[in-house]
Amino acid sequence: MRRPALGLLARPSFVCTRCRANYSSVARNKKTNLPDFPARTRFAPSPTGYLHLGSLRTALFNYLLARKTGGQFLLRIEDTDQKRTIPGAEQRLYEDLKWAGLHWDEGPTVGGPYGPYRQSERTAIYRSHAHDLINGGHAYRCFCSTDRLDAFARHRSQAGLPPGYDRKCADISAEESEDRASKGESHIVRLKVNGYPMFNDLVYGKTGQNRSPNKLDLIDRVYDDPILLKSDGHPTYHLANVVDDHLMQITHVIRGTEWMPSTPLHVALYNAFQWTPPRFGHVPLLVDPSGQKLSKRNADIDLTFFKDKQGIFPATLVNFAALLGWSHTQKSDVFSLKDLEDIFTLKITRGNTVVAFEKLWFLQKAHAQRFASSGGPSFDQMVTTVSQVVETTYSPEQLAPILQSRPIHQYVTPLLQADAKSFTKPEDFVARNATFFTTALARPPYTPAAAAAGPVVPMTALHTAAAALSLVPEPHWSVETHRFNISSYDGSAALADPEAESATPPPPQDEKARVAADKAFKKELYHYLRWALSASAPGPGIPETMAILGRDESVRRLREARDLTREFADAGAGAQKVKGAIKEGDVSWMGSLAPR
Ligand code: GLU
Repeated sequence: MRRPALGLLARPSFVCTRCRANYSSVARNKKTNLPDFPARTRFAPSPTGYLHLGSLRTALFNYLLARKTGGQFLLRIEDTDQKRTIPGAEQRLYEDLKWAGLHWDEGPTVGGPYGPYRQSERTAIYRSHAHDLINGGHAYRCFCSTDRLDAFARHRSQAGLPPGYDRKCADISAEESEDRASKGESHIVRLKVNGYPMFNDLVYGKTGQNRSPNKLDLIDRVYDDPILLKSDGHPTYHLANVVDDHLMQITHVIRGTEWMPSTPLHVALYNAFQWTPPRFGHVPLLVDPSGQKLSKRNADIDLTFFKDKQGIFPATLVNFAALLGWSHTQKSDVFSLKDLEDIFTLKITRGNTVVAFEKLWFLQKAHAQRFASSGGPSFDQMVTTVSQVVETTYSPEQLAPILQSRPIHQYVTPLLQADAKSFTKPEDFVARNATFFTTALARPPYTPAAAAAGPVVPMTALHTAAAALSLVPEPHWSVETHRFNISSYDGSAALADPEAESATPPPPQDEKARVAADKAFKKELYHYLRWALSASAPGPGIPETMAILGRDESVRRLREARDLTREFADAGAGAQKVKGAIKEGDVSWMGSLAPR
């Protein structure tokens, strides 16, 4: 199973799939940093916590690298630290990854040719590999008692020396070591390292410690000699991680920079086994806008928060996570998972990545619009969630006169289509569009839009226009009809001064004035209609609002608004220069739509 160490050998003409990773520094596109062969990547979480933003991004980058190159994405559970394992965390990891759409090709629940994919089930494999290292002289058993090691560490710390091990057990003969171990004497296994190699990181370039011993080391020489097997016979993270990545034929390891200090040790282990390491790419730390590492206190919270509390779509969160440290050359930042699979590269920025949550809400709105215009299961889900929120917010008695006989989801569907651009979370959407769910509108007193400047529009003209819009019969009651009627309503005529020569069309040089008058009228009309139909709340456009509410409720609101402003119309003579040009009941402007 061992791969030969290829070192600086020239590249042969044929390279089998398994060995391609050995040449990955050569076989990659300089611009994208992508390998020119199918990458095998893995996400290797420890079930000591739940998936959070940072780990979702790690999983995503590994997933995308595999998908983009036509390779495989593996899931491996690194549960070597049984004491810190949280019951149920593993199950939650599966659920959260599936929720995000990151399906694994090999791993727990799906199996695969290199299983088992849970480290707690692979202890025998690690032990046998540790023994291989002992036999090859790269590792040794250490029988030092905890007391000795503690005292040694204390002494070094008090003397201001860096920690390390004095290799007391390194020279025990192979026979003695075997003998003591077979008699059950407690021991650990240490890797024998004399300095760590540099490695070429996909993100950070050549990196590593490459530290030569300092003067103090020479007087009181100690070694790192990290532990591979613990006294209970279980592996440390380092041994298990390296053995598994090799046996599972991982070609690329994308992980957080917090693992970067461990990588030289991992490379040393690969060297000791005479295996070629995979390519490593360390993705930068996530920080908040003040530069603090994201933590539980400042939003590096597990996915439940986003998915259950905030109602964020999986597509939104995945899109958001993808943009954390990855740079692309596309025009827009809005990507579905499928888009990301197509365009992913390993262009990952160095240095800390600032997480700005405004972007999350921008993306949420963009994905809401995407779903609303394409329909499908994600949109159906939005409709269902919003309908549920409506039904828990409003009583059946409140909803009955609004819905009439329409099922709630049928009512909510066009509302979501019309106002998806503002969709953040279901509760906020329902609150923003509250006027769609009750007949009791709390309208503030009407104040004209053009109060400060511009032509004054008489209230009677607004009443007339609203009444005319109400005349559309039920079968024609649609967004298109209302949009057409409002746009073809001649506002300049409504503003025309009957005292002046308005019976004849304005001369051509007055066209500019006519357009300006029409614009001023329409502005006031929209303002009035929004106040009348939705108490001035922001939301869908007027034609959409009328179509969603339906004819009965729209007409009722327009009449109610007229009654509320009747006084304004009667008494506002001072503000009214002219009367409306369209008489109530005059439906000739509606052409073929006019009721007969
Ligand atoms: N088990 C490690 C973790 O919990 C994985 C580190 C790696 O990807 O190598 O993040």
